[in-house]
Amino acid sequence: MIKNKKSKSLIDTVLKLQDMGLNHGATGNCSCRDGDTYLITPSGIETKNLSEDKVIRMDFAGNIIDSIGNLKPSSEWRFHQDILSQRKEVGAVIHTHSIYASTFSLFGNELPPFHYMIAVAGGASVRCAPYAMFGTQELSDNIIDALVNRKACLIANHGLIAVGENLMEAFHIAEEIEHLCHLYIEAKKIGEPNLLNKKQMSDVIKRFQTYSQWTKD
Ligand code: 13P
Ligand code: ZN
Repeated sequence: MIKNKKSKSLIDTVLKLQDMGLNHGATGNCSCRDGDTYLITPSGIETKNLSEDKVIRMDFAGNIIDSIGNLKPSSEWRFHQDILSQRKEVGAVIHTHSIYASTFSLFGNELPPFHYMIAVAGGASVRCAPYAMFGTQELSDNIIDALVNRKACLIANHGLIAVGENLMEAFHIAEEIEHLCHLYIEAKKIGEPNLLNKKQMSDVIKRFQTYSQWTKD
C-alpha cells in the first residue's frame, strides 16, 4: 500500500500494543479513518512481521482498495468498518486480547464504576458485548450496541475494543481499560469494592470533557 502518515501511525500503534503486552502473536487488529476510506491491519500476520506496506486500504462498502500480494484485511473488518461508518467522531479502532480485559470478558459482565477512571470510556460502566463468532456481522452488531455513548467495550470470551478520535486516544483508552480490569480482578480477591454513585460519575464524565487533548495523527 502507498505509505502515508496514517499508515505509519497504524504500524506504530500495533508495535506499541505489542511492546506494552496488550497484544501477542497475530491477535488483535487496528484501523483508522483516512479520508473516505480506512486503513486496517492484515489478517493473521504476526505483529513482528507487519510493516507499512502490508497495511490494507478499504472503502466503506467493504471493498479492498489497496493491498499488496494476496493479503486479506483483518477478519474483524466488519466491526472496524461499522464503527467508523456509524460513529463519525471516531477516527480509530483498536482491538486487543490483552490479559486482564480478556480474563474479565470470560464472565460476560460489565465493568462497574469502582474507580473514577471508568469515565475514560465515556460513561459510568464499560459494557460487555455478548459473545458471537469472530469476524461475523453478529459480533459487529453486538459491539455497536455495547459501544453506544462509549469509547470502549469488552467482548465476551474474547477481549477488548477501544475507539478514539485518533489512534493515540484509542491506544490510551485500551491501555486504561486493561489496567482497570487488572485492578478490578485484584479488588475482587479482597471482596466487593465500593462503587461510585451516579452523581460522582457524572461529575467525572463532565470533568473529562475538558481534561485530555489527544495529539492529532
Ligand atoms: P485478524 O488476524 O484476522 O485481525 O484476527 C485477530 C483477532 O483478534 C480476531 O478477533
Ligand atoms: Zn480478536
